[in-house]
Amino acid sequence: MDNPTQPNLHEVERLAMMFPDLPIEAIIKQDILRVGLSFSEDSLRVASGYKPKDYFIFSFDYVRLEDMEEHEAYRAPEEIKMTGGPYNLRSTITSVRVSPTSPYRVQLHEGKLTLFCGEVYLADLEFPPIPEYYKHELSSGKKISEIAPAIEWGYLVYLTVYRLCQYWGRDEECRFCDLNENFRQQREQGRPYTPVKSLDDIVEAMGLINQHDKVTKAYTVTGGSITKTLEGMKEAEWYARYAEAIESELSGRWIAKAVVQAFPKEETKLLKSGGYQIYHPNYEIWDEKLFDWICPGKARYVGRAEWMKRIVDAADVFGPEHVIPNFVGGVEMARPHGYVEVDDAIASTAEGLDFFMSKGIIPRFTTWCPEPTSDLGRQDGPPLEYFVKLLYTWRTIFEKYNLPAPPGYGRPGVGNAEFSVSAFMDVIRVEKLPQTSLA
Ligand code: SF4
Repeated sequence: MDNPTQPNLHEVERLAMMFPDLPIEAIIKQDILRVGLSFSEDSLRVASGYKPKDYFIFSFDYVRLEDMEEHEAYRAPEEIKMTGGPYNLRSTITSVRVSPTSPYRVQLHEGKLTLFCGEVYLADLEFPPIPEYYKHELSSGKKISEIAPAIEWGYLVYLTVYRLCQYWGRDEECRFCDLNENFRQQREQGRPYTPVKSLDDIVEAMGLINQHDKVTKAYTVTGGSITKTLEGMKEAEWYARYAEAIESELSGRWIAKAVVQAFPKEETKLLKSGGYQIYHPNYEIWDEKLFDWICPGKARYVGRAEWMKRIVDAADVFGPEHVIPNFVGGVEMARPHGYVEVDDAIASTAEGLDFFMSKGIIPRFTTWCPEPTSDLGRQDGPPLEYFVKLLYTWRTIFEKYNLPAPPGYGRPGVGNAEFSVSAFMDVIRVEKLPQTSLA
């Protein structure tokens, strides 16, 4: 495309020229995640035949539910799949974050679902199909889509079994996180939003998925942190029971993943013996000083040094390539205390990537979504340049250590990736991967 006047596309093209061996699909995907999507009324009407946003954990929206005049929250799709357009995009799946003022607008054009950026036609779109298993009901009367929603174009069953976090209030909750606030707003809007999902509901839901679905390949069990106890159990024991219950009925049917706190080694073993294959002890941010500001609860109850040590120790239990801690891409530039310069932020994050990847542990990232009800509030996140440099840095270090594609994330590579909340899987060069098994 020649000289687009739209500022976002101008920047996309500038960065695509600066990093010619990054796929432009990944750059556009990061920009959409960074600023969100708006929807025309007619595109929302079409969306009713597709899988809607199930609000599987956080809100991941740039406005509150109550401020969505077109009620996009109830009608927007979980993801979009872009293809074609002036850049001839290969298939690119991107999570939907509602932002009614975003220049990236989903609309019907000549009878087709399309994506525009300002006035510029950018791509043809598909919305995700409603999973076959959503037709079935649980005996408790709960909707299966509430108990066991699918994301990543159906690849991943996302089991947020505890929708609250015991880190509570601004002195404990991670500052980017709206888990507790999202729970409150969903309940206020009258949605069924189960705070603690029962083992019976989960096992029944997974049984129905096993019977009626062939698309799902992995499940994630997660939820808020348990600093004290829940139902009389400590966190590792409480979360371990979910894999135990699923695996005792349907052993090996899915790749089992746990996104929970970084535990001491003995407690980590409970997860492994429960049946989880992948452990995500998310460290959120690498920078030492910013960790204490961004994650005050984790800093106070565990401490940064101990948190990072536990991640490394977990490699002895799960094997390094099965320890995949997440960080929140971009939160190290949050105002008022974060980095101001993109290159400084990238240098800090690269240090953490090198630390873990040199040990065979592969951190991955989600794209920071400054939600209005999080403590950091609705602020502009980092510029696109930050995310493009992060993708480039992540891949450079990943290739330096000759690491395999992380298991449990679907297919790697541009045109293949299903992971939808950052483009790290899209930028993996399949031809450079070591010859190990991929999942
Ligand atoms: S540990 Fe932090 S990120 Fe996780 S749910 Fe609690 S407040 Fe949110």
